[in-house]
Amino acid sequence: METPTTNPSATVDSDRDQPAQQKPAENHLHQALIHLPHIADGLIAMLSHPKRMITVSFPVEMDDGRLQMFEGYRVLYNRILGPGKGGIRFHPDVDGKEVIELAALMTWKCALIDVPFGGAKGGIRCDPKSLSENELKHITRRYVSELGDNIGPHTDIPAPDLYTNELTMAWIYDTYDIMHRGRNNLPVVTGKPIDISGSQGRAGATGQGCFYATEQLIAQGGVSGLDSITNSRVAIQGFGKVGAVVAGLLRDAGAVIVAVSDTQGGIYCENGIDLETAAKFKKTHGTVVGLPETLTITNADLLELECDILIPAALSNQIHSENVDRINAKLIVEAANGPISPAADCELNQRGIPVLPDILANAGGVTVSYFEWVQNIENESWDLGEVNTKLKRKIVRGVDLIMERWQQLTETATAATNPTDTATPIAQATPVTPPGLRTAALAIALERLARVTQERGIWP
Ligand code: NAD
Repeated sequence: METPTTNPSATVDSDRDQPAQQKPAENHLHQALIHLPHIADGLIAMLSHPKRMITVSFPVEMDDGRLQMFEGYRVLYNRILGPGKGGIRFHPDVDGKEVIELAALMTWKCALIDVPFGGAKGGIRCDPKSLSENELKHITRRYVSELGDNIGPHTDIPAPDLYTNELTMAWIYDTYDIMHRGRNNLPVVTGKPIDISGSQGRAGATGQGCFYATEQLIAQGGVSGLDSITNSRVAIQGFGKVGAVVAGLLRDAGAVIVAVSDTQGGIYCENGIDLETAAKFKKTHGTVVGLPETLTITNADLLELECDILIPAALSNQIHSENVDRINAKLIVEAANGPISPAADCELNQRGIPVLPDILANAGGVTVSYFEWVQNIENESWDLGEVNTKLKRKIVRGVDLIMERWQQLTETATAATNPTDTATPIAQATPVTPPGLRTAALAIALERLARVTQERGIWP
């Protein structure tokens, strides 16, 4: 293990590494489409565009009596498979471009994991850390009222994301219910508290799904030089709703969690971090940094640690062309959405470092959201065992499918003298990289969406 050294802190720069006019989701899409020459150009154009984007701006009366304006977004990317589904995030960097990309990811995720939802995403540009609970409640309620009937149990169903939680979902439900009296509005939002018909297991579902996916990929022999979680060394960027849960599950399965982090930096312990003490310390001090008997490292240090499993579980674009050559992990599990830039993804593929892609690695959340939606519609309540058994089945099937598809793609790419020989304009315009698990996952999702679109037919 290399001794942690001090590096400049990781920054968030969503434009880094992007060729002019090409967005990460688009780049990944094109990589997959190279292998799908049978999908017609018109369908590709349809899948490349969001169906609808709503921008709302509204005033909120702050605790000190000031009026402050906020801007929010909701994107319905695609509804071929069912109503829109996707989280709502509160973050100062939220903008329309980011929300569209995240809504596209939700579309591929739902298609891959096989839940009957389209893709959507929402966000409010704000700094949740500087807002009181009362202010957050007013922002949430006003955002929901501005969206009006553009969300609904059978049109578009929000869920938690970065810096939103069960309480936020309770406010969304309450606001929508007040606006639509006299009917069962529970399925309008998922990730609700258990007392308001939330599902058992929803709070930890993304971390739980991430764990099942990692376990299955390793069991399938998908990670060279790593045949078990036991004794594997794990570094996790982000110690929130996803990062902390997956840390606990991996530790319980025998892994050593050597590093975790949050906005203020990271901590490292060669023999493994005591996660319960770290969680208590974070609750008291607002950060894990400073936990006794750990070394303080930066977020950049954490990403570059020599480890078996690296799990970015915070923000997008954390591994990019400037740090990818220093990534020293056997497997990267994308718990966060889009934590690896397309250029870095390409380099990792070339170096043979498998990336468990976000659309599968963090699909546990939307899967249990779907279970919550079904329970709400049927007025049912499943126990945790039932939820986790169903979740595991979906995630394991997802891993098996992408491994099978990846093997096929790899054999085809090796057999072809020049994979760019395919006649599609996309193949000619996009540099081809060795197919990775992401390309395999996207190929499955896109094929499904294209097939269902053709089966339904284009209206009128
Ligand atoms: P969260 O708000 O609970 O936790 C985020 C964590 O990341 C916190 O520990 C925070 O301190 C840390 N963080 C924020 N900025 C950071 C930075 N610059 N460097 C290092 N750490 C930083 O959010 P979450 O729900 O755990 O979501 C994490 C990621 O997982 C996001 O990308 C989100 O889109 C994705 N995701 C979440 C869910 C879900 O169900 N919660 C589902 C799918 C995907």
